[in-house]
Amino acid sequence: MSRIVFLNGSFLPPEEAKVPIMDRGFLFADGVYEGVGVLDGRLIDNEAHLERLERSLREIRIDNPYSRNEWTRLEQELVRRNGMTEGFVYLQVTRGVAERDFFFPQEGKPTVMMFTQTKSIANAPAAKNGISVITVPDQRWERRDIKSIALLAQVLAKQAAKEAGAQEAWMVENGYVTEGGSSSGFIVTKAGSIVVRPLSHAILPGITRQSLLRLSKEDGVTLEERLFTVEEAYGAAEAFLTSASNFVVPIVSIDGRPIGDGKPGPITRRLQELYLQMAREPAIAAE
Ligand code: PMP
Repeated sequence: MSRIVFLNGSFLPPEEAKVPIMDRGFLFADGVYEGVGVLDGRLIDNEAHLERLERSLREIRIDNPYSRNEWTRLEQELVRRNGMTEGFVYLQVTRGVAERDFFFPQEGKPTVMMFTQTKSIANAPAAKNGISVITVPDQRWERRDIKSIALLAQVLAKQAAKEAGAQEAWMVENGYVTEGGSSSGFIVTKAGSIVVRPLSHAILPGITRQSLLRLSKEDGVTLEERLFTVEEAYGAAEAFLTSASNFVVPIVSIDGRPIGDGKPGPITRRLQELYLQMAREPAIAAE
């Protein structure tokens, strides 16, 4: 099945989906995005992703081009047209096309684009075997709660991870872990509680993080929403990350130091299971 993408109201082959060079996304990274996981052909936590998109758009003062129902129908149509059962839907809205000038254009409308990426999530090697992370300084701006398309700091952080033989970078500010380059970061203490950084402007409010916290509470796991240092992470019993495109992924080493016994831990395994159950449960997962 050949790939179909969405651009400004049309479903097109990728080679026909063209955006002018004066698009403010291209010139200024003046836009926001979302990424929604797909399992068994269904959009996971879609309502929460669309709510975060609304918030990101409001924060940068772009009018939301679609209602939640319209977005959902377009996403579902794109998934259907690509015959995708497992993977990821990427949505992006920029302030549109205008002569280059910093001020918002008087007229014009947002550029709306979506594409899918087919990938295995539930049975991905990373989910089974765990991954390694490195730590890097957090070089981003101060409004990381907005899902901005300006991702240069994350590109550099994740490339550094790759060159070090790791799969993710944990960004660090004042000695405390903020989050992963494209994921939320968690540790599990020796006493068995989950530690995660509280929401603020310093991190993206991860949708998978939010669902996972709800599931762990329901399961009776102790939660500590607080800052943690890199040193504490080195000495943790377990560590893991969450994201819409990977769900829950065990972390088996940080900066080359094995976490726990260097294998995915039991609490992480349990949370992976709970998350998958939720994602496969049609009554709970957003259609
Ligand atoms: N933090 C950052 C910086 C991210 O880019 C992502 C992935 N979009 C996440 C956290 C995880 O968020 P979510 O669970 O909503 O994908």
